[in-house]
Amino acid sequence: MAPSPAILLKNGRIIDPVNKIDKRGSLLVENGKIKALFTSRQKAPSASKLVTFDLTGKWIVPGFIDMHVHLREPGEEYKETIESGTRAAAAGGFTAVACMPNTDPVNDCQSVTRFILEKAATAYAKVYPVGAISKGSTGDSLAEFGEMKEAGAVAVSDDGMPVLDSQLMRRALEYASSFALPVISHSEDLGLSRNGVMNEGFLSTSMGLVGTPRVAEEIMIYRDIALADYTGFPIHIAHISTAESVNLIRLAKNKGCRVTAETTPHYFTITEEAVRGYNTNAKMNPPLRTKNDIKAIVAGLSDSTIDAIATDHAPHSMLEKDIEFDKAANGIIGLETAVPLTLALVRKKAISEARMVALLSVNPAKILGVEGGALTVGNAADITVIDPKKRFVYREEDIVSKSHNSPFLGMKLQGRAVLTICSGRITHNDLDR
Ligand SMILES: [Zn+2]
Repeated sequence: MAPSPAILLKNGRIIDPVNKIDKRGSLLVENGKIKALFTSRQKAPSASKLVTFDLTGKWIVPGFIDMHVHLREPGEEYKETIESGTRAAAAGGFTAVACMPNTDPVNDCQSVTRFILEKAATAYAKVYPVGAISKGSTGDSLAEFGEMKEAGAVAVSDDGMPVLDSQLMRRALEYASSFALPVISHSEDLGLSRNGVMNEGFLSTSMGLVGTPRVAEEIMIYRDIALADYTGFPIHIAHISTAESVNLIRLAKNKGCRVTAETTPHYFTITEEAVRGYNTNAKMNPPLRTKNDIKAIVAGLSDSTIDAIATDHAPHSMLEKDIEFDKAANGIIGLETAVPLTLALVRKKAISEARMVALLSVNPAKILGVEGGALTVGNAADITVIDPKKRFVYREEDIVSKSHNSPFLGMKLQGRAVLTICSGRITHNDLDR
């Protein structure tokens, strides 16, 4: 690849909670790295070979890291590819994504991990492969963690499926810790959730649909916390959706248990009401819950019970979504809507700007043990520029992802990433639009 030109990001509001910076200033990017940071009192350099952006009114923040996406490659390239998925990531303000192993074949060995990383070499964002916990993610026997780690996997998970066998999960925690691999749990009791297609409650009954009770999620989170507590090894809980899940994690953290958790923008933005009309773009697992759950999740995001916002970006084509609700696939795309949906919480003062950056960058980097999360001079230049005021309607024709399955289509949103820089390379530029 040709060397990228030096870039000067001028007059933006620099928000970097790690370095305790929240002030107007400028950043100089050179040779893929952050070369210098100037606050307003110092004078930024001016040179003829610089690409300069005047970012008055915009935020300059450490590149966002989505620790939970599905890129569908290998195996389901008609839904998404590593290239199209990372283009969507860049368009949404992400400089890195961690991709779940439920591809075809499952990423449970070094050849699949290597394949993903080879494709990622020319992608629009850094790609961190997550290897499977069990071979084929069938829950029967552990995959080769060491082999996958050596090939470049950053974590292990059977996401899409829970690890039902508690002994296998215990062994996974022990085995993963010897390779310093975080374990990410998709917490779901399949006995309780079997056949469920939406949140169990009055609405599911009135729509004649089988519900998934909230306790299907909570019971497994409780087990996962108990295993982390017993073994002393850390565990990360994926996509939490209920008020009681937040409570369980809060209690566990207060007790000193090494648990971290993520939620997604859809769980703090919309409720099961979105399913009305049998809208398959509102079908996901775990399902959308209620207003009370949203309240608890927002409280958890604010008080650090929940560590990260991930999207669980799950592209599906019309083939899987334009069918009966019962039969439709679970999941929605999320990379291009995460920033505006999270900014809505900032505008409501439910979370601060710095907290937003922690949830989308600092903490995902920390949990996965990857670079990023700070605008420290010398770091790789992974930078997201946000226009918090920009209003737009989320339209199908503007979607960068190959798939269009989103419940937010047609919604008026505010704030978005207008410039994304990954290792000094501009991967998204929407400043002139
Ligand atoms: Zn999952």
